[in-house]
Amino acid sequence: MKKKDGMMIEEDRYARQKLLWGDDGQARLEQARVAVVGLDHQGVYAALCMTSLGVGNIVLIDGSNVKRGEMFLDMSVPKGAKAEQYPQLMQKINKQVTIEGYTTNLESRIDQLTLEGADVIIDATNDAASKRWAIQYGKENDIPVLSTSSRSGYTKLMTVNGVQDPAFLMPMFEGHQQSALMALIMAGVITEEVRKAIFGEPLVEDPVRYKLGEGYRFGFPQNENTTLIGEKGLKNFSAAMLGGGGLGCWGAVAGTLMKFGRLDMYDYDTFESHNVNRQILAYDGIDKLKAEHVADKIEKMSKGKTKSTGYNLLILPGFDTDIKYDVVFDFVDNSYTRAINAAYAIKKGIPSISAGALPYSARWDIHQEGKTQCMDCMFNIYEEGRKEEMIRRASCAANPDPSVVMSNAIGAVAAMLDAYTVLRPDVFGEPFNGEQVYRSTGQKRFGTSPLVDICDCYHHNIPDLEISDEDVAAFVEANPHLLQEEVQEA
Ligand SMILES: [Zn+2]
Repeated sequence: MKKKDGMMIEEDRYARQKLLWGDDGQARLEQARVAVVGLDHQGVYAALCMTSLGVGNIVLIDGSNVKRGEMFLDMSVPKGAKAEQYPQLMQKINKQVTIEGYTTNLESRIDQLTLEGADVIIDATNDAASKRWAIQYGKENDIPVLSTSSRSGYTKLMTVNGVQDPAFLMPMFEGHQQSALMALIMAGVITEEVRKAIFGEPLVEDPVRYKLGEGYRFGFPQNENTTLIGEKGLKNFSAAMLGGGGLGCWGAVAGTLMKFGRLDMYDYDTFESHNVNRQILAYDGIDKLKAEHVADKIEKMSKGKTKSTGYNLLILPGFDTDIKYDVVFDFVDNSYTRAINAAYAIKKGIPSISAGALPYSARWDIHQEGKTQCMDCMFNIYEEGRKEEMIRRASCAANPDPSVVMSNAIGAVAAMLDAYTVLRPDVFGEPFNGEQVYRSTGQKRFGTSPLVDICDCYHHNIPDLEISDEDVAAFVEANPHLLQEEVQEA
């Protein structure tokens, strides 16, 4: 039954992630207690992501006050102690979780009492002393501790193990201001490690790093140039996001922080209750059009600095836009629409950045003339897209895919951040040619498959992606084996 009154159906909230771990898994998350030390960007975004996932008890620990003009998504954070204000705001994202706040920093034995009963401790400060207290408490009480920090253009996450290692204290970050964008790229990674800890799966052993700037993105930072852009942002550039779901919502948050001058949203769908576990901006948007709702959020999050129009459009072959954007983001969840987006970008002569998320992995890649391979050379997207669509049309089965917040957040934010290399290669280095991935089970959580050659497809004719009923019939005739499963189910 489908309500149309804008009411969140709470029973449906976790439907798409229960496909992965069932009611039992969700109950384990609900019973868990996770302490987040530090409510600067790193702690706030990690807590936001865990709130979406449904970690049942989240404890926020921070002794500082809200800064003037501080925003949490599209909400102004009221004056007062952060630990008092943030629980109320986060509760709006998910009322099924309990969020406590303690107005203190981790500076003494007494302060460690706030960590009592935690299943996982995250120290998200840039403060070595705080991390020392967190690590000591975790060690004494056999609680896993994650240490994470950020600064402009660089962020790092480590699982604290039994070894005494000064690296856990993250001295490189001490005294630096945290970066909202770097916190945002790490939020999904942190949350996935928290999920693993709760489910008793092994945590990441190697440090996880992400940096802006030239060269390999997942290693040590080499220069500080990238810090310069933050102030001015990308206000002279316009972009469009094609897809306002799990990827598009997180892309909107990142794009706002990157201060795009214009960031438009194209989508045909409305938000439903089972979207809310990952489509972060849907928290107050049930039954609303995604395109319009997300565009409205972008303007609110940026306090009007990033203009945004929501286009309520189904993306079909021949898709076009009035505006020639500087870059477009492909944030859809199926190969056929991806193929249409790729064809649109080539025809229009716009660089595109594509992202995709599966429950335990994400990928993103840049397609720009003269610099990287096109999407078809990389993924055979036109043929694969047509094939997937014909199978979909020939079968009646519409099985929902499982989806979680973590990989959507990672894929979308990473794709957005790569726009820096497309728009400002002078500062951020050249666009990466090849596939970039996050894998929840990989020893290195982030990785790349670099390509050497580029292609010259950007000036060739793109194929016709229209599919007629006759095409589908012919396809079924020629490929009965591809449809067997669906036929049996039907
Ligand atoms: Zn090509």
